[in-house]
Amino acid sequence: MSQSSPPPLLQIRGITKQFPGVLALDNVSLECYPGEIHAVVGENGAGKSTLMKILVGAYQPDHGEIYLDGQRVHFHHPRQAQQAGISIIYQEFTLLPYRTVAQNIFLGREPARHGLIDRRAMVEKTSELLRRLKADAYISPHALVRDLSVAQQQIVEIAKALSLEARVLVMDEPTAALAAEEVNLLFDVVRSLRDSGMAIIYISHRFQEIFELARRITVLKDGRHVATVMAHEITSADLVRLMVGRELEYYYPPYATPEEIGETRLRVENASNDFLKNISFELRAGEIVGIAGLQGSGRTELAQALFGVKPFTSGKVEVRGRITHISSPLAAIRQGMGFITEDRKREGLALRQSVWDNVLLAFRALQHMLTPVRLNGAGGPDVRALTQQVDLRAASLSQPVQYLSGGNQQKVVLAKWLATASEILIFDEPTRGIDVNAKAGIHQLLRALARAGTAILMISSELPEVIGMSDRILVMHDGQIVGELPAGASEADIMLLATGQQLLAGEKRS
Ligand code: ADP
Ligand code: MG
Repeated sequence: MSQSSPPPLLQIRGITKQFPGVLALDNVSLECYPGEIHAVVGENGAGKSTLMKILVGAYQPDHGEIYLDGQRVHFHHPRQAQQAGISIIYQEFTLLPYRTVAQNIFLGREPARHGLIDRRAMVEKTSELLRRLKADAYISPHALVRDLSVAQQQIVEIAKALSLEARVLVMDEPTAALAAEEVNLLFDVVRSLRDSGMAIIYISHRFQEIFELARRITVLKDGRHVATVMAHEITSADLVRLMVGRELEYYYPPYATPEEIGETRLRVENASNDFLKNISFELRAGEIVGIAGLQGSGRTELAQALFGVKPFTSGKVEVRGRITHISSPLAAIRQGMGFITEDRKREGLALRQSVWDNVLLAFRALQHMLTPVRLNGAGGPDVRALTQQVDLRAASLSQPVQYLSGGNQQKVVLAKWLATASEILIFDEPTRGIDVNAKAGIHQLLRALARAGTAILMISSELPEVIGMSDRILVMHDGQIVGELPAGASEADIMLLATGQQLLAGEKRS
């Protein structure tokens, strides 16, 4: 910035934050000027959200300082940051669905008259805020929040920030769940805030948006500040390189050899539902196919469609060569499929029940159906053998699973699907929240299962894991499979597809 420029409105200096086992931030600094949109980018786990939570007082840093208008500030709670003029819009919402827009904006700060809430004043102030955001045409102060679209809800959050006289606004992946038209609504609002002199920190994975909005871009990687660049001075390919450059010191098990790959277990042709568009791919016995993509690209939706949680509504699915309509998880289990969800605590396990009962969970669900099914031996599965197969470390099989470590809980989920002799396993983030050692164990196990003939589909947000584990990689973007890459593809190639670069190039030409 030249001499005549205003001083930064916000300065974050040398922030360090250690979580148990992870140095989430290591001496990170960042500045934002009034009237500037400053994008923060980095892979999952780079430390973006943690930095913002520290900025607004949701977390305390171990080291480092924050200055607002040149004054050092200390926030112990997001409310204090709000009062000082720093607001954050999270990915997930904090509005109350059954209250109106006006009630949400003034929650806990309702204008009062004669000791009563002054509803008229509240509605008037809300109208004025919405007018300032040019959103009054499509959001009514009286509307219930649950009737609003995601973008509209975000605009209500912004209106709330305005009512708190925010001068710094942080947006953490605000568009992850938005449709294209909604993104435009939000962008108009964000630009008008910038023009009014607000300092805006904008976290996003979507390069197109970043280049459209941001003046400067800061790249974080593994908790460190990598670079801060002017948006017009860098290409998206160079930005990707800054984001992903890293050394791998971890060793993954070897990929499948051609001889290990067998018959087609699952074939999907032109399948769609509300979210997914024209999905086509094959999954064969003995291979691990990785699914890469950014948050919101449809990876989990794909797993849910295959497993009958949110089924496809058109197209064709064949399991072992036979056309099948998988309309429910039970139907999927009957077809020999298992689904290891992202959220094992909520969906994969009965936490208060024993290891034993959890391992038998899916098997028993199958037994309750009258249809004969292919089960593991006549007398039911051998729970002890299964837990040995997955190398479970538990005090006993009667131990409730809630007391096991994340890695061991994941092994119980796996044993549960082995109990039904699943031939097709879908993993959604198999090692999320699992420490490095247990991670290696899960990776070995996945490869051992593939080698024994299981067909594995593995969704992962961690690029090194996708690359290290997958015999082929399907990349998703915007509800579609936009490309397939071979084993050992580079992070940059995956990111280019995942951020829609090649699609964009195609769209521009047409
Ligand atoms: P990003 O937003 O860039 O994806 P995060 O800031 O969420 O990254 O995470 C940075 C690192 O800190 C990750 O390794 C993550 O697992 C870890 N982390 C984040 N929040 C917590 C927490 N509350 N407790 C422990 N570890 C955390
Ligand atoms: Mg984040």
